[in-house]
Amino acid sequence: MKSAVIQAAGKLGGYQVARALTRQQPKILMYHRFSAQKAGLEVTANTFERQLQLIKRYFNPMTLADLAQYRQKKGTNPANAVVITVDDGYRDFYEVAFPLLAHYRVPATFFVTTGFVNGDIWLWPDQVDWLLNNKQAGDSLVIAGRHFDLSLTAGELWWPIVGHFLNIPDEERRAGLVLLAQACKLQLPQVAPMQYSAVNWQQLAEMQEHGIEIGGHTVHHPSLGAMEIDAARAEILQSYTDITRELGERPRTFCYPNGQPSDYSEAIKGIVRDSPYLAAVTAYSDRFNTDLDYAWRRFVGCEDDFQFHKSLFGVEHLGNLARNTRRANF
Ligand SMILES: [Zn+2]
Repeated sequence: MKSAVIQAAGKLGGYQVARALTRQQPKILMYHRFSAQKAGLEVTANTFERQLQLIKRYFNPMTLADLAQYRQKKGTNPANAVVITVDDGYRDFYEVAFPLLAHYRVPATFFVTTGFVNGDIWLWPDQVDWLLNNKQAGDSLVIAGRHFDLSLTAGELWWPIVGHFLNIPDEERRAGLVLLAQACKLQLPQVAPMQYSAVNWQQLAEMQEHGIEIGGHTVHHPSLGAMEIDAARAEILQSYTDITRELGERPRTFCYPNGQPSDYSEAIKGIVRDSPYLAAVTAYSDRFNTDLDYAWRRFVGCEDDFQFHKSLFGVEHLGNLARNTRRANF
């Protein structure tokens, strides 16, 4: 019993040392999906509530726009800053996470894909998921040079296919989705089925009134790094116009879709710098953290307790400094 207490204290002690060492390093946390109960790629309500309690107790939570404005004004980082960011625009953020954020009065930044909110598109990883979960056939197929055996389960196939799609041009991926739908003997619905659906503008307005920053994440969620520069500029600027038209002028920030090094470039960063967006984030962490403007790094926000503690208390950042590595946080 005694040793368990000492062990626990030692563990938290270690976290507190890491927190002290990295207090001037903002921890920008990245989330995607939430669920009332089911844990998978989603973070459950119970876990998120415990995470908010930890953040409130030991840190200084703020929106990404708050962080950008503080740095602009003071030329330094606020102590113990934590920013909760959530990507894409799924409705589960409104239903599961927002009530908890409002209850604990923790601000956050929600990056929305405006074409998704408008109901014009749904996100292709979800289309892969829907096809695999509803497939009528178990044949095999070749997509952009790679073979997939459709007799495997949806769980076994999702990541190999999505991982492959992330590494091929948008055009080939669109063609790949058509092939996949044919092989599954299905037709993709025009509008996202319920479990993949987006928030609406009214819900966003309500959240904005309660301290949630609504940030940009393009209109169609393309990989900007691989696009013609004019098309990329349109994706970035139109997202700001869409959000401002619906929700008014506010300080807002931006998030690169997919967010890996190949998904943005110096030219893309320059477009965001010249836009009204105050800052931009990637989807990985490395030693630079928030040192490089318009490419601030993010730490993974997740269901796993151990990984979450490492992100929040700065253990991950210290590891990045020591190892000089990059961690992709999909
Ligand atoms: Zn995204």
